[in-house]
Amino acid sequence: MVPASTPEGGERTTRMRRFMEEAFPLCRSITGGGVRSTLDLINAELDGLELERHEVPTGTSVLDWTVPNEWNLVRASLDGPDGPVLNTDDCNLHVVSYSVPVDTEMSLEELRPHLFTLPDHPDAIPYRTSYYNETWGLCLSQRQLDSLKDGRYRVRIDATLAPGHLSYGEVAIPGARSDEILLSTHICHPSMANDNLSGIAVLCEVGRQLKAKGNLGHTVRLLFIPGTIGSITWLERNRDAAERIKAGLVLAGAGDPAPATYKRSRRSTTRTDLAMARLVTARGGEVIDYYPYGYDERQFCSQGFDLPIGRLSRSIHGSYPEYHSSADDLDFVDDDTLTDTVGLVLAAIDALDNEPRFLNIAPEGEPQLGRRGLYGSVGGAITDKSTEMAVLWMLAYSDGDHSVHDIAELSGLDLDALQAATDALVEASLLAPA
Ligand code: ZN
Repeated sequence: MVPASTPEGGERTTRMRRFMEEAFPLCRSITGGGVRSTLDLINAELDGLELERHEVPTGTSVLDWTVPNEWNLVRASLDGPDGPVLNTDDCNLHVVSYSVPVDTEMSLEELRPHLFTLPDHPDAIPYRTSYYNETWGLCLSQRQLDSLKDGRYRVRIDATLAPGHLSYGEVAIPGARSDEILLSTHICHPSMANDNLSGIAVLCEVGRQLKAKGNLGHTVRLLFIPGTIGSITWLERNRDAAERIKAGLVLAGAGDPAPATYKRSRRSTTRTDLAMARLVTARGGEVIDYYPYGYDERQFCSQGFDLPIGRLSRSIHGSYPEYHSSADDLDFVDDDTLTDTVGLVLAAIDALDNEPRFLNIAPEGEPQLGRRGLYGSVGGAITDKSTEMAVLWMLAYSDGDHSVHDIAELSGLDLDALQAATDALVEASLLAPA
């Protein structure tokens, strides 16, 4: 972990925090002006990398979904018998995202079904959405709800829900190869820091550092999209690009002060999975298996695409009390953790770019190793069993995808044995560099 106090680490951290402070108040949702303003800020953070902006019209069919109406909030407020109760100028979590416009009066009892709280965390305002079911609602702390008196209440939600566009942004940082590493993060959550300004800040920092470093092997594509509908829209419009993706990560919840968690892809032993397992474990983090819930990995790993994409987080979503509430504020995110997450992503790209990979050029059946002196005790330079096993593992997994490091992890054999086997197999014209 690079401490924030070092000049280099400190400067990066300050920039990530400054971005989060600036973006925090914006009223983001899956569409609307808050998303566009956030994309403006992201573009400014990318230091000359050109963010390609997309606007997809309402009603567009995307896989099994349809791009919804665009939602824009001006202001929501609640006034009661004793005066103002809440308004979204103070905190935009007070309104259920995608609430239809409302201007009405009602009793407290009539109002109650539209009020949302977190009884177990009585001081926090919950985050609620209703994207695909037209309704309205307000969110407040349980303590505030408990203080409301009977009487007449005036609800005003000054918003528009009308045909418009879904907005997202992407940038490709070119490498020597057209094969891609995809790094994706969601930009649809309003004023919460860990979920997911942390992911956006980390991805911008990764982009800046990759641009400064240059000399990439893979092309690295950064994707800033609204959750679920954004990745579904991107996949619909990028079926070809999906074929070029050799590795990738969904970044979400990247800044709370917990060790890293890597969630494997559905395929579970892709090069992304093996590299991330090594890196995260070495830093004291946890590796968990794929399950079909969470963030956009659900879409990228859906059967029709089945991409080699896992998810990098700190705490797992839903497992910490601040999750999806006003308690997920800027103080909840730790600068050193953000820097550590950036380091993990960069280390993963470095591993994916630079670990040696080979291709078995006689992949149909096992090649006859004995006559080449690669198996058995007669006539060969290689006689010990561990090297024989290393020969078999290298042949079995050298598909151009798995690196020697990956094969070490899969086999439990040490790198030296695999390297010796590799040298012998290259010499025998059975392996070639991928
Ligand atoms: Zn979330």
